[in-house]
Amino acid sequence: MSNIISNIDEVLGNINIAATKVGRDPKEIKLIAVTKTKPVEDIQQALGYGVIDAGENKVQEIRDKYEVFGDKINWHMIGHLQTNKVKYIVDKVTLIHSVDSMKLAEKIDAEANKKGIIIDVLVQVNVAKEDSKFGIYVEEVIDFISEVSKLSNIRVKGLMTIAPYVDNPEENRPIFRKIKEIVIDIKSKNIDNVTMDIISMGMTNDYMIAIEEGSTMVRVGTAIFGKRNYVK
Ligand SMILES: *Cc1c(COP(=O)(O)O)cnc(C)c1O
Repeated sequence: MSNIISNIDEVLGNINIAATKVGRDPKEIKLIAVTKTKPVEDIQQALGYGVIDAGENKVQEIRDKYEVFGDKINWHMIGHLQTNKVKYIVDKVTLIHSVDSMKLAEKIDAEANKKGIIIDVLVQVNVAKEDSKFGIYVEEVIDFISEVSKLSNIRVKGLMTIAPYVDNPEENRPIFRKIKEIVIDIKSKNIDNVTMDIISMGMTNDYMIAIEEGSTMVRVGTAIFGKRNYVK
């Protein structure tokens, strides 16, 4: 068995353990294999093993990999998206996890409208108010989503967050808990066109904690494909 495949087995096993620990059905949790910087052969292996959801953070990389795999993979845009690049991926991705400004939401809506499609998105929330991270602040999320909900070619499906890198993943538990709280709050407001079925949180370092706190999508790269080498 290749490393990638045994790694996937291990991650799926951990998802089961974390879900079971808190009485959740593991089937509620989708594994997004984060394939950024990784070659086509690695993705092929994961795909061959049944992983059909892949996360990328660069528009060019989605375009290149889309040429190879097309719709055999559900592509998830998980990185900061510049408005001028929306047009290149709007009809290629399953879900945009990183809506973090009204300007971006409007652009996605406009491009989706041109193509006659409706795009599912998540709103990225910056819980820890880290300067280094994009995302809407907690106290602004509800107003933001109310505005986005008026756009006809976008559907808000939930929230996404990137927790800080910490040595002990327990430190991120309050962040994940906060996101779940906001989700419940938004659900109770019954905003038109808005559902809160997806909570995208948890990465290699902290996905088990995120699942314990309600995550429905974990974005895992390193634990599946190994360390990324950014120097090419
Ligand atoms: C790179 C990345 C991940 C995966 O990180 P790992 O620590 O390698 O699992 C998840 N989410 C986002 C937004 C990323 O950019």
